[in-house]
Amino acid sequence: MNEQSGAIPGEARFDNRYARLPPPFHSPAQPTPVAQPALIALNRPLAYRLGLDPDALATPEGTDMLAGNRPMPGTEPVAMAYAGHQFGHWVPRLGDGRALLLGEIIDSTGRRRDLHLKGSGPTPYSRGGDGRSSIGPVIREYLASEAMHALGVPTTRALAAISSGESVIRQSPEPGGLLLRVAGSHVRIGSFEYIASHDNPELVRRLADHVISVCDADLAGQPDRYLHWLSRVIDRTARMVAQWMHLGFIHGVMNTDNMSILGETIDYGPFGWMDHYDPNTVYSSIDRRGRYAYRNQPTIAQWNLARLAECLLPLIDPDTTKAVELASEQLEQFTACFESRYHTGLCKKIGLDSQHEGNLELAFDLLTRMSEQRADMTLTFRRLADLGSRDASSDGPVRSLFDDPASFDAWVGDWRQRLRGEGRDEATRQADMHRVNPAIVLRNHLAQEAVDAAVDHLDFKPMQQLMDALSRPHDPRPEDQRYMQPPQPHERVLDTFCGT
Ligand code: AMP
Ligand code: MG
Repeated sequence: MNEQSGAIPGEARFDNRYARLPPPFHSPAQPTPVAQPALIALNRPLAYRLGLDPDALATPEGTDMLAGNRPMPGTEPVAMAYAGHQFGHWVPRLGDGRALLLGEIIDSTGRRRDLHLKGSGPTPYSRGGDGRSSIGPVIREYLASEAMHALGVPTTRALAAISSGESVIRQSPEPGGLLLRVAGSHVRIGSFEYIASHDNPELVRRLADHVISVCDADLAGQPDRYLHWLSRVIDRTARMVAQWMHLGFIHGVMNTDNMSILGETIDYGPFGWMDHYDPNTVYSSIDRRGRYAYRNQPTIAQWNLARLAECLLPLIDPDTTKAVELASEQLEQFTACFESRYHTGLCKKIGLDSQHEGNLELAFDLLTRMSEQRADMTLTFRRLADLGSRDASSDGPVRSLFDDPASFDAWVGDWRQRLRGEGRDEATRQADMHRVNPAIVLRNHLAQEAVDAAVDHLDFKPMQQLMDALSRPHDPRPEDQRYMQPPQPHERVLDTFCGT
């Protein structure tokens, strides 16, 4: 930390544009100090990027700043206002009920990044909630968002996880925690829905111009910028969801208030990476009808984007019919954009070119067999890379993942023939497959093990070791073997999560 007390720990610069927007966009709020903040994890490389000095952040004074006990110079905390469709139902006012936007930091590359503190105490949007978070969800979000980043999926990042030294009451008392989160923007589809509900298009314009200026500055001032911007949000979201689908990731609560306008994965609650491939998998305990099941994610994303488009209609064209027509044309692009990404990536996962006829069908056939035979999603693709294109003698590690290995045998012959037909160099094909098929994902039982050690024994070592493995998902080391395995029956996590 710099010598003067209260000085900013590093070279970070803040420019808090969102806080300068007028009242309907946010409410002033300050973090409520916690009893005894202690660092659980600090993301040192991310701190450097933000111009923050990780050594200074790791001191008691720095930890006080990360926890909101002492103001970080340059920040201007506000609670962001938003509404949302939760499980399809309109909720007119949500907002940051247990989090604050501390400020916007300009990182070492000149990029603007929101610093957002979750678990920081009550705000005007807490609706009777305690404004806090327990340590389990903090650890889960830290691990998941950093794992996603390592996998190359756009996501919010985790700068620090902190234990508060206080208890929060959930089903029973649990240790409290805070997460300092970093994102390109915390504006959500629900932020637009909230502002649009004021029936004042000028306010929507204000928000749209704000996000364009911070995230899509090249569009600023252009006459057709709102339609153009909508098409970008659609494109980014489609790409993000395609990546989720490739990895077997389930967000769990794709309410419009949990969908970023930047196409970053945000608000990790009851998320999960599938073990065995089953498109009907649901992770949220309150999602009884499976609205947010794995297979529904693209459709739901498009539905959410339609809610965003509705908010933008008055900005797109004064003639509503015309505006609807233009916005609908953009929304229809979602399917094409998602499918082209999803299909190309799926073929890549099996080492084949999506341009060649029949390859996509072959990939889908494998998925069908995987779901019928409960084959592990991550391991099937990862191990498939290691099979040779000439003979079946090394097929054992993949066959054994299928309840009935004959189902795999019936598929693999055609795959080999196609590999030979494409005639690519074997080593290059294998390396390419390894690059798109991670060996290590955050399986639920691994997250649970890290959380249990933290909650039961305040032992953060399992979390740190797991984070280390998750940071190189495509290049496992021999000691990472245990992180690659599906859960044993007794390790299976049967409870799903509601996320708070
Ligand atoms: P989430 O499930 O985290 O996406 O949150 C949905 C809404 O509930 C948001 O407005 C949150 O700020 C609010 N919320 C969730 N947990 C709490 C809590 N413990 N105290 C206050 N508000 C909360
Ligand atoms: Mg949320």
